[in-house]
Amino acid sequence: DIRSGLLAYILQPTTFSSGQVITHNDHIVLIRDAFPKATVHLLLLPRDPDKRDLHPHEAFEDLDFLMMIRTQVSDAVKLAASELSRLIGSFSIANQARIEAMESEEPPDVLPAGRDYLKDIRVGVHAHPSMHHLHIHIISRDMHSDRLKHRKHYNSFNTEFFIPLDDYPLSPDDRKRDVRFQNNNLKEDFKCWRCGKTFGNKFQKLKEHLDEEFDAWKRE
Ligand code: 5GP
Ligand code: ZN
Repeated sequence: DIRSGLLAYILQPTTFSSGQVITHNDHIVLIRDAFPKATVHLLLLPRDPDKRDLHPHEAFEDLDFLMMIRTQVSDAVKLAASELSRLIGSFSIANQARIEAMESEEPPDVLPAGRDYLKDIRVGVHAHPSMHHLHIHIISRDMHSDRLKHRKHYNSFNTEFFIPLDDYPLSPDDRKRDVRFQNNNLKEDFKCWRCGKTFGNKFQKLKEHLDEEFDAWKRE
């Protein structure tokens, strides 16, 4: 069953290449999404057999489990941020200013900060995951990828269909639990994550705009 494709990573992380499985321990396996929807797109897979088959809403009711996952996520986010920095850091004007200051004849006592890539990494789950086993997306915010091919791909990460891990545990009456609300989110008009411009249902127009935003965002 194609929807069970994540189980092999959980059970046998060492049988995968270092390009597929980034790291693993008793609690989690951190893998690369095989169809990345942004410049950096990782999946964190909890291994606990009592949790791995649960829907996120249910799994994260257990506060001890949630705390453990948050600790694991925090390491994974640092790794994702450093990967993002490696991939696009040379475009950053803030980074260039820092390097120039460092290399100048009389470096200032306090160097310009350079870009912080941690704020560009988002962590969360889909309201209705398509893959069976519990997984947490760790994804850079750019949505710049040739694997981003369908309306659902974009909206599942850029509406309330994407539920930040920080929102858990959800309260019993949280509307993010509402199936109809969530299915409607997937059909919403496209809205640019960076400038808020809307594109109706024009996917190609959105894709062209995401290319432009990617270039501007890289230079921040
Ligand atoms: P969901 O919508 O269930 O939250 O997202 C599942 C994610 O798993 C998708 O982003 C998809 O690209 C990814 N995916 C699906 N099958 C595989 C696979 O066999 N290996 C890996 N590494 N990722 C997968
Ligand atoms: Zn925009």
